[in-house]
Amino acid sequence: MLKGGCHCGAVSFEVKTSLEWITECNCSACRKLGTVWAHADEGEINVDMADGATLSYIWGDKTLAFHTCRTCGSTTHWTSLNKAESTRMAVNVKLVDPSEIRDMRLRHFDGADSWQYLD
Ligand SMILES: [Zn+2]
Repeated sequence: MLKGGCHCGAVSFEVKTSLEWITECNCSACRKLGTVWAHADEGEINVDMADGATLSYIWGDKTLAFHTCRTCGSTTHWTSLNKAESTRMAVNVKLVDPSEIRDMRLRHFDGADSWQYLD
């Protein structure tokens, strides 16, 4: 179970399932946000924050929204914008204590081009 949160504490999250890997994606958004993601279904992740605590950033084909803390600027998670199509989401494990993810497998996802894992 991973727990993390933004720098100022306005947004926190908990992944309630155990994950086999975490993912670094090379798409233009993930690369510039500097994120490493833990993906799960929405039912397996709790995000605790007040309404409006984050700014959401939506781009490209508008399938998901990146959330960034309005106070401290940490990118915390992304959510699906079309729940009929996908209820997957992810939290940014850069906001988790490093000791919690040290032994996890890190996979590289080619979101910039082939949309496949590179291993
Ligand atoms: Zn914050």
